[in-house]
Amino acid sequence: MERKSPLTWARQDIRDMVPYQAKVYPEGVKIDANENPFPWPQSYVQRVQSEIATYPFTRYPDSEAKELRHALSLYTGRSTEEILISNGSDEAIQLILLTFGGPGLATVISHPTFVMYGMATRYVGGKVIDVPLLEEKGTYRLDVPGLLAAAAKEESRVIVICNPNNPTGNCFSEEDIIAVLEGTDKIVIVDEAYYEFAGKSMAARLQEFPNLIILRTFSKAFGLAGLRVGYTMASQEIIQEMHKVRQPFNVNAFSQRAACIALEEREAFQEQIDTILAEREKLLPRLKPFSWQVYPTDANYIFLRPYGETEEEQMAITTKIHQALLDRALLVRKLGGGPGLNGTLRITVGQEKENDQLIAALESLYDPEQKRWTL
Ligand SMILES: *Cc1c(COP(=O)(O)O)cnc(C)c1O
Repeated sequence: MERKSPLTWARQDIRDMVPYQAKVYPEGVKIDANENPFPWPQSYVQRVQSEIATYPFTRYPDSEAKELRHALSLYTGRSTEEILISNGSDEAIQLILLTFGGPGLATVISHPTFVMYGMATRYVGGKVIDVPLLEEKGTYRLDVPGLLAAAAKEESRVIVICNPNNPTGNCFSEEDIIAVLEGTDKIVIVDEAYYEFAGKSMAARLQEFPNLIILRTFSKAFGLAGLRVGYTMASQEIIQEMHKVRQPFNVNAFSQRAACIALEEREAFQEQIDTILAEREKLLPRLKPFSWQVYPTDANYIFLRPYGETEEEQMAITTKIHQALLDRALLVRKLGGGPGLNGTLRITVGQEKENDQLIAALESLYDPEQKRWTL
């Protein structure tokens, strides 16, 4: 028998995918992934440490995450039956697409946005319909008629609105989000990963819109990115279907407990959130003097587009800025992979000292008289 490569038997659509590569860089100022830049608050560390010693980690975790769902019920105002816990909200995106998507079915997204929606769609054999955001008056808005036309297609199942949008940073108008929810009975995901920074939520409207699914995470404001905890809020009926496709022990016991304590220690995290927002307001005007467009933001990161005659020129400048910052031990996110994202940067708001380092590095790369980068 002539033996074939084992990859002969892999799904062709998976083989055609480009893997997500989270970059690992050496020590430096890490302002590329929208994480909380502060270490855990001292009161939080003490509580986590004192509980670890006696926690029954020899046992499987609570498959239903009852304690965490109860704590989240108090935090969100939704009932425990309307909440599902997942291994980061990345897993929640997968669960939604396993439930509602599949071969031949479509997910409607608005480019530029978070990459996981498209990736999870492709895992399940589905396809992406892109209804690009509209750039208007220096910010981005949803193309509501475009989204509704795409949603109306037979194969469409899920429409995703990331609010505030990653990477552009802005919240969309509530009227536009409502217009999408009113205009379709297909599933509408509103990803509120940055809710604690933006303060806007659709959670109070879940009854009104049975097709609404809200995603949140502990990875950003609550500083638990390394522990992987996210949650979904939706009608009890939708949550029950999603439970069928999740692994019974999808969130480990430590992370469940750590997320509960984070909610109990919310005031300490709120201080960090307030500081990050204050730092953002200090940072924004300091970024404006350089030759790039600084987009308005409702989150803990800032979207930037260096000026250039053509997209190629923009991309070349962006690549140089990114590398020059890296050489100065500052890691920011260079975006790419399509129109709208090519030649753009996203910078997470750091601690005061880190933001100062960023500005100092940028000043060393810029000639303010000539108003140009000296790269
Ligand atoms: C960071 C991020 C997430 C992923 O969060 P995890 O809970 O860490 O998986 C989801 N959505 C958006 C828009 C994000 O920026």
